[in-house]
Parts: sequence; structure tokens; C-alpha cells
Amino acid sequence: MKALVKSAKGPGHVQLKSDHPKPQVKPNWVLIEVAACGICGTDIHILEDNHKNWPPVVLGHEYTGRIVEVGIDCGEWAVGDRVVCEQHTLACMTCDACRRGAIHLCPIKRSPGWGIDGAFAEFVLLPANLLHKVPDGVTYKMATVTEPTAICVTGLDRVSLQIGERVLVVGPGPIGLISAMLAQAAGASEVLLAGRPSSHARLKLAEALGIKTYLLEDFMTASTDLADRFDLTIDSTGAGDALSLCATSARRLGRILELGLANTPAVNFAINAATTKSLTIYTSLSSEYSSWDRALAFMASGKFNPAVLTSIYSLDDWESAFKDVENRKVIKAVITPQPFSVLDQEK
Ligand SMILES: [Zn+2]
Ligand SMILES: [Zn+2]
Repeated sequence: MKALVKSAKGPGHVQLKSDHPKPQVKPNWVLIEVAACGICGTDIHILEDNHKNWPPVVLGHEYTGRIVEVGIDCGEWAVGDRVVCEQHTLACMTCDACRRGAIHLCPIKRSPGWGIDGAFAEFVLLPANLLHKVPDGVTYKMATVTEPTAICVTGLDRVSLQIGERVLVVGPGPIGLISAMLAQAAGASEVLLAGRPSSHARLKLAEALGIKTYLLEDFMTASTDLADRFDLTIDSTGAGDALSLCATSARRLGRILELGLANTPAVNFAINAATTKSLTIYTSLSSEYSSWDRALAFMASGKFNPAVLTSIYSLDDWESAFKDVENRKVIKAVITPQPFSVLDQEK
């Protein structure tokens, strides 16, 4: 089968192969014909070797598709079901996090796309216990954004967003945009999405989606009219100046949610702006089990349509897709091994 494979450690070593072995079903695992798989910042990090990976490995972890073969002991799952899958494969089930039920935080889990074979391919093998059914009415184009949506749902769960709250989101990448869309749909009275001039195109798209935006030349100096205004501030970037803006922009006793990861082990942070207002700082990583079904249910309800964030590429054209993500030309590049029309299937 066709598959995008990282064949060795180090920067690069990523190639589209046409003769990669098709995976074989085994007990408790199902074989999926991939309909779509989104590119994530993590994929770029794996390409550059800044994220852990176990080559040779097929990349791609934001996928959806249809079951074409079911191993024994896979419960009710059947050929023809449309599914998405949590990323917590090979969680150990014995560490402290796993025994608390937080398998998404297992330190030794190995997810599809870097730890085991992922879904920039015609087929991917997935464990039945981590699957979620894609509801009728939700297209593949929408469903392929379930994983980043579940990440944002998990984060918003942690900060208990309340009706009528004012929310600032910093960074208009996929996680920032989805967080802003969810906060708006979930009852925030005001959602403001802030970004730098380099994110101009993404801010324009957010405006078109009905989200108010704020262009900042510089996060640290241009923030006075945002100061002390928001109940909740969300950073999607992991950058120190963005997190500091979250602190200066929150009201007294407000909350900060950090959804980003920094490129460096430590960042500069305006700690006094946080302490003098007694802010609560939350962080959130990956996605918790129940957030997947709620992400899909929200899409099915018609209140949240992430398909507007997607740009579609063929698997053969993977290099253009990766380039467009690196150059921030698109928000969520989605790769398909199938004809583009398949992505509009809604059952
Ligand atoms: Zn991702
Ligand atoms: Zn574990």
C-alpha cells in the first residue's frame, strides 16, 4: 500500500512508499481504510526529528476512515463503521496515570503516527477499545478534526468555562481557532482571538467565522487595552510572551489555560502579573476519553463545523501539504489517499 514513512532517525528521512506492507488484523484490532488524515505541528516536529519517534514508522495521527476488517474480540465493531480513534495506543495500564484512568497521560504510550504506524497511508490498524463512532451527518472532513477538537474540549473542561464569561485566545493556529470556536459555541459572552501580523491570513478566516480578532505587533507592549479584562485567557502557542499576555489580560482571580508547548525547556513569564492578581494557571495535554464523543456530538448538532478549517491534498501531494503548513498558508491541511469527494460522505 501507499504510505508516508519516516525510515530513520534524524531530520528528514520521510518518503512516500508505494510498497509498504498492508497491516494484518489481529485480535482486538481493526483495519481501517483511511479517508482523511490531518497534518499537525507534531508531524512537522517528527519530520525535523524534534519529537520522539520510532522509525520505520508511518506518520499521521489525526485520521478518520471506515472499518474494512475486524479482528476477533472487537465487541460490536463491524465492517462499514466510520470511526476515529484516541491516540493512547500502547498505554501501559499499570502506571499511576493509567490506573487513575488518565491513559492519555501515560508516559510510555506510543501513539499511531510516531510510536506505531499511523494514517498517512491507505490503511491503518487500530485497537478496538480506543475507537469512537462518527455520527451520521458528520463528514470525514469534519471528523478528521476530532483529535485537535478533543484536545481543546479536554482543556476547556479543566477550566470549567461558564456561561457569559469573557475569553481571550492567543495564537490563531488550529488549537487556538478551535478553542475560540468552542468557547463561542459554549456560551462565552465575548471571545477575542489575538495573533501577530504573520498570522494575518488566519485572523481573517477567524473573522469570517464570526470570531472577533485582535492584531498585536508585539505581545508584551501592545496589550494595555486588553489588560485585566478576561475571565479566562487561553494560550495555544507555548511562547513566554504569549503566556505573559494571558496573565496581563486576565482579571483578578481569573484563569489561564496553557495548551501550547514551548520550543525550549524554559520560557520567560511575567509571574508578577499572575501572582498579584491571584490567577489560577492550568495546563492540559492530549485528550481525555469522554471529550471525543462530545467533540463528535457537537459537530453532529450543527453548532460546530471544523470542516471550514481544512484544506485537502492527495497523499501523492504530501510535500505541498507539509510546505503549506510550515509556511502557515493553510490552517488544517488534510491528506487523503482517496478521491476528494469521499471526504464529503456523511454516513
Ligand atoms: Zn496532533
Ligand atoms: Zn501508563
